Amino acid sequence: MTDVLSRRDLDFLLYEWLDVVAVTSRKRFAEHSKDTFDAVLDLSADLAHKHFAPHNKTADANEPTMRPDGTVEMIPEVKAALDAYAAAGLIAGSFDESVGGMQLPTTVARAAMAWFQAANASTSSYPFLTIANANLLAEYGTEQQIDDYVRPMLEGRWFGTMCLSEPQAGSSLADITTRAVPQDDGSYRVTGTKMWISGGDHELTENIVHLVLAKTPGGGPGVKGISLFIVPKYLPGADGAAGERNDVTLVGLNH
Ligand SMILES: Cc1cc2nc3c(=O)[nH]c(=O)nc-3n(C[C@H](O)[C@H](O)[C@H](O)COP(=O)(O)OP(=O)(O)OC[C@H]3O[C@@H](n4cnc5c(N)ncnc54)[C@H](O)[C@@H]3O)c2cc1C
Repeated sequence: MTDVLSRRDLDFLLYEWLDVVAVTSRKRFAEHSKDTFDAVLDLSADLAHKHFAPHNKTADANEPTMRPDGTVEMIPEVKAALDAYAAAGLIAGSFDESVGGMQLPTTVARAAMAWFQAANASTSSYPFLTIANANLLAEYGTEQQIDDYVRPMLEGRWFGTMCLSEPQAGSSLADITTRAVPQDDGSYRVTGTKMWISGGDHELTENIVHLVLAKTPGGGPGVKGISLFIVPKYLPGADGAAGERNDVTLVGLNH
């Protein structure tokens, strides 16, 4: 198969222009070397060619459909590719070792991603959305939220989304109408409709962690009143598995 990306170009950018090996002098990256960076790039190129590129056109020609029971059907190659990606530990590539990550420099992790985006933009979007979601929770979440949501996402057992847009509100987030009302138990009851949510529903993983923008009562005008809520498809179970079904429903698909 023809290369989807030039390794020579990547090597030039990383090693000759950016001198990325220099970051290994820092404590965070001390365990790394050019060899470990090359190993991640080699692995990524191999997985991208074997599992992502072959179904790129097939996935485009066979869009996901919503079954009568509300679940999503898609070609099986997508799940097979994503399982291989997760098994390689690449979702956790740039994350801390304390949460199971490889502590790769972001520059190298992004270069590794380039193989997948070049091979298959749509299939690669699922883990990349998940990485973005997990990044946000790892930075701002509580220890409990990191245990409940970040770890399963980094293992690839759960995927994540970003739910900003609504049918009547795209760029203008001040116009969102989704509401979050506090409950006596400290949780929030979130009501509303989101649209154009990439990876919004599927059967690729055990659970989906939605990060949802919503307005709280008395939260102030415009974007000042907006907060971000974790809305999982299934509530986290006591044993780290997906638990009780949450009231999140797919109403349609855009392709
Ligand atoms: C492939 C794809 C994936 C997406 N995935 C997600 C997702 O995962 N999660 C999610 O929440 N959303 C997602 N979206 C939605 C996306 O974020 C919205 O489409 C985007 O916010 C634009 O909103 P809109 O389409 O309603 O355009 P509008 O906001 O209606 O904008 C229409 C036009 O007006 C212009 N415009 C808007 N505001 C202004 C302004 N203030 N001043 C001047 N010009 C302006 C825009 O540039 C544009 O040309 C996705 C969209 C696409 C196409």
